Amino acid sequence: MSLSTLESPIEFLKGVGPQRGELLRQELEIATFEDLLCHYPYRYFDRSQITKIGAINASMEYVQIAGLLVNLTEEGAGFKKRLIATLYDDTGRIELLWFQGAQWMKKTLKENERYIVFGKLSVFNGYYNIAHPEVELWNADTSIAGRQPVYSSTSKLIAKGITNRSFAKLTQALFEKVKQGDVPEILPPDILQQYGLCSRFAAMRWIHFPDTDEHEQLARRRLKWEELFVSQLLIARLRLQHTAQRGWKFEKVGDHFNDFFKLHLPFALTGAQKRVLKEIRQDTGIGKQMNRLLQGDVGSGKTIVAVMAMLLALDNGFQACIMAPTEILAQQHYFSISKLLEDMGIKVRLLTGAVKAKPRREILAELADGSAAIAVGTHALIEDSVQFKNLGLAVIDEQHRFGVGQRARLWKKNEMPPHVLVMTATPIPRTLAMTLYGDLEVSVIDELPPGRKEIKTVHRKDALRAGVMEFMRKQVDEGRQAYIVYPLIEESEKMDYESLMAGYEQVKIWFNENKYRIAMVHGRQEAGERERNMQRFVSGEADVLVATTVIEVGVNVPNASVMLIESAERFGLSQMHQLRGRVGRGADQSYCILLTGNKISDESTKRIQIMVSTTDGFKIAEQDLAMRGPGDMYGTRQSGEMKFKLADIVTDSAILEETRNAALALLSADPKLSQPQHQGIKYMLQKQGKQSHWGKIS
Ligand code: ADP
Ligand code: MG
Repeated sequence: MSLSTLESPIEFLKGVGPQRGELLRQELEIATFEDLLCHYPYRYFDRSQITKIGAINASMEYVQIAGLLVNLTEEGAGFKKRLIATLYDDTGRIELLWFQGAQWMKKTLKENERYIVFGKLSVFNGYYNIAHPEVELWNADTSIAGRQPVYSSTSKLIAKGITNRSFAKLTQALFEKVKQGDVPEILPPDILQQYGLCSRFAAMRWIHFPDTDEHEQLARRRLKWEELFVSQLLIARLRLQHTAQRGWKFEKVGDHFNDFFKLHLPFALTGAQKRVLKEIRQDTGIGKQMNRLLQGDVGSGKTIVAVMAMLLALDNGFQACIMAPTEILAQQHYFSISKLLEDMGIKVRLLTGAVKAKPRREILAELADGSAAIAVGTHALIEDSVQFKNLGLAVIDEQHRFGVGQRARLWKKNEMPPHVLVMTATPIPRTLAMTLYGDLEVSVIDELPPGRKEIKTVHRKDALRAGVMEFMRKQVDEGRQAYIVYPLIEESEKMDYESLMAGYEQVKIWFNENKYRIAMVHGRQEAGERERNMQRFVSGEADVLVATTVIEVGVNVPNASVMLIESAERFGLSQMHQLRGRVGRGADQSYCILLTGNKISDESTKRIQIMVSTTDGFKIAEQDLAMRGPGDMYGTRQSGEMKFKLADIVTDSAILEETRNAALALLSADPKLSQPQHQGIKYMLQKQGKQSHWGKIS
């Protein structure tokens, strides 16, 4: 096996050279033959036909024509400079245009030569033209391409003449160098056979140059399979490591837990809460590290489960911590946990980025000497400066903002890693859970506390605003509280800020300022001010809370019965679901009003309809995943945890299931991957593990 061919620097490929090599490296990180091999086309053009220019019609997207090139002229100057040429055949003529790389094309093209031309058709002033077509001299030995792969490129590459067509040519040149033996199979033969996968080499060839649809399908399936298999193996291996990981043994249920249960629990636990506590009790009692995901829709009562699990840790002589994604949520946890435990003589401390140096030093000292039993905080808790005397349990709330890598940092907080309980309010579709949390055991709270009424959700357009406000005033008159939420999207923060302020002024008019009490929170306030305003609403001193999405997660005000979402068309599904979950927490009928502009896009309409039609978080999450894709949904696109070149965990869920099964089977048969037929895959894992966070967990 000569790996060296694939590892050859890209400039050694025929047609590349040092200059283009450098460009490819800079623009697309293509540095070696292998990188080019793995720069897959994203579609194919059918170039088997040559269309007569006179036969072109508006239904055609891409056309291939052939004829004589004339009138090569440059127009405009500077930015507006462009190159124009006319191509004609015996049935008509058409204009060709270049805006980028005009200079380079001018040098390349020759007037009065015959060219074969391919590109996307557009219409200008009633005439067809083709901008940035692919052109090639047309003579006796020009072969018609058939299916031509289409590659992603960058404008800089195109300006330097490295077009889509160049990629196809380079890849062709590549396959003159790279032979079957250079692309060794990495999947074991029994897997290839069981799942009907073609060889790695064939897949690579066919994905670039499929001679039939069937070959293209085979190639895609094989390459997606490989991607997902590698990631599932990494996850399965992590899970195996977890199960083998020794952990602290919580031997008993002691006074903290029992006293709380008997004397301080403000309500009866639901069956689901009891079941989950039992699972946690079991997990933590056997001397192995717990890694458990607690899934439960908004309002299902995860906090109390976390609190009781922490008491269990305390009963066994350990400390516990709970980590939240935002300052406000950490504060709220701190208040509610302190309140729940107030008569129990347990020291609870809040540690966030906002804590000033002096109190911070005190808190750090209390955590280090063990006098503080429970720490509540944000990311600040995983910083290296935070040392615990004896951390036994770490709870992570609203998990999707923490990555696998951050979770791993918690492990280092004690001689043996603490038990980890991850809680997520956004129900995660199964396929995504398999990818993101495949290393965790899963508990589900599938039951809401008793007495909850289904939240009534309606869509109202701006024209009906007066009626909406009237309705909200009535609710407040009956003693309820109301949220009014405005979008705040980072890129246009300034504009959103202005619209929030304008909205606030309006609200003050709709709700007579002298009669109703209005509070406002947003991300530009200083933490202290934001907290005071939030507190006014939490304590019932304010009737209406005008807010941006800073209140999205976790905030708990059971007396609030109306959630009005302004410009709802700008919110994503799971965000709206989270927001809606802020109401319906008490015994009263609650309402969610989605206020939108009078005209909204089809996609926004669809999202709003989904919200109106169901309050089931799982259904909403499935729809969200299908509409948006996993990267957007969980903000994991940059984290590298779900970067697949070809696979899509929504549409390829069947392959995902196969690879998960295959990964589990492989690891149970050969846990260390020491058998000879598993060396290829082992090599792949090492390579991938280094690139992702997973490599850091060992
Ligand atoms: P989430 O799962 O969204 O974090 P919380 O833990 O904030 O939900 O709980 C939502 C609300 O339900 C809180 O007001 C909490 O006190 C209340 N709650 C939780 N469990 C029960 C229960 N078993 N019976 C009644 N109310 C409950
Ligand atoms: Mg919560």
